Amino acid sequence: MSIRKGKPYPYGIHVKDMKELCAESPIIKMPAPKKVYISMSQHIGAPAIPVVNVGDKVTKRQLIGKESGMISANVFSSICGTVTAIEDIVTASGLKMKHVVIENDGRDEEIFFDNIADFEPKTIIERIRLAGIVGLGGAGFPTAVKLSPSTKLDTLVINGAECEPYLNCDYRLMIENTEDIYRGVKYAAMALGIKKIIIGIEANKPKAIEAFSKYDDIEVVVLKKQYPMGSEKHLIYCTTGKKVPCGKMPFDVGCCVQNIKTVIAIKHAIEDNKALSSTVLTVSGKGIKTPMNLRIQIGTPLEDIIEFCGGLVGETVKIISGGPMMGKGMIGTKSFTRKTNSGYLFLTKEETSLEEPTNCINCGVCAKNCPMRLMPMYIESYALNGDYANAEKYGAMNCIECGSCAYNCPAKRSLVQSISLAKNKIKEMKKNGR
Ligand code: SF4
Ligand code: SF4
Repeated sequence: MSIRKGKPYPYGIHVKDMKELCAESPIIKMPAPKKVYISMSQHIGAPAIPVVNVGDKVTKRQLIGKESGMISANVFSSICGTVTAIEDIVTASGLKMKHVVIENDGRDEEIFFDNIADFEPKTIIERIRLAGIVGLGGAGFPTAVKLSPSTKLDTLVINGAECEPYLNCDYRLMIENTEDIYRGVKYAAMALGIKKIIIGIEANKPKAIEAFSKYDDIEVVVLKKQYPMGSEKHLIYCTTGKKVPCGKMPFDVGCCVQNIKTVIAIKHAIEDNKALSSTVLTVSGKGIKTPMNLRIQIGTPLEDIIEFCGGLVGETVKIISGGPMMGKGMIGTKSFTRKTNSGYLFLTKEETSLEEPTNCINCGVCAKNCPMRLMPMYIESYALNGDYANAEKYGAMNCIECGSCAYNCPAKRSLVQSISLAKNKIKEMKKNGR
């Protein structure tokens, strides 16, 4: 058993965590819906290509979308049924994506991979690729690629921080599925050829800290409750003391960070021969009758989830996919569970600010709160004036879109949206050679 305190990080903010709404609610398996809408773009990179046709009968965990390139991921059916449509759907996130629609026929069957041939790194990575596993903390980067760095790494860091307010799915998994996480972590370490394994857990999760303290080969690092502790760079600094320089990646300092749900998916792919077909997420906020932590089949409509949680109560003024800091606001409820979903929040007036932004008063609070030491007010101003060259000069591309700058801005400026826009424009300009 090895437990130590994490290195203090002087920047970042303290947010009201609201986790009490369902932190002590065990994960419940939601029954499979009548229909699933499975997106072919649930990851970073090229969309998967449908390999089924309308009218086909499919079985749970059958391949329905094939990866299309190096950075892509396979997609599997989450239920047994008949493919009724393959169509582009504009969801409540405002994005148009190809979905395979499957009508449930009630069969209780599933398809498994063969037993893994050996536990060589190459074989483990290949199984992870086949199973369609991507970073399930939200990033969606294909895990097989992340586990195949071009340089030798020395430390595997497991992200048990879950610093986003309201969300409890990682916490529940850490105390309910500790052994699955442990076994998945060991396979990830085998794939990387790494011996040093650290799990970083925020101090407000004592049961999770205790659960992992029984393993001799994982070091538990207790992190201060601070936002954004779960960001890769901050997690690496607080758990290992290593600084990931601006513009560099964790592998540049010998580290690989993996999320809790991702390592569980790895365990299921290697030991249980299962492709990824479900996820665990938190449904919370004062606008939903019963906040819950749910295991859900991928492709489940949000409207079914709302019904399962007892419906909406009071006046929900904002629906968010993910946490309130880094999640995305949604227009309505036309949304379908994806591999990377960590939660849905239904926030009432008292939980969110709807105030209109006013002029910046140059108070400097946003710069003081920025964990990346940026000057958000300047980047925003350049972005709004279309001066993307200066936005880049002021470090827009180093912004991790954590929302700390906007959290306490007295003028309620939409800093993250402006910086995110600048980042997209800068990327576009570079792509076009400007
Ligand atoms: S916190 Fe808001 S008002 Fe203060 S400097 Fe930053 S953008 Fe301006
Ligand atoms: S500028 Fe970016 S990194 Fe800095 S606080 Fe704002 S969102 Fe976070």
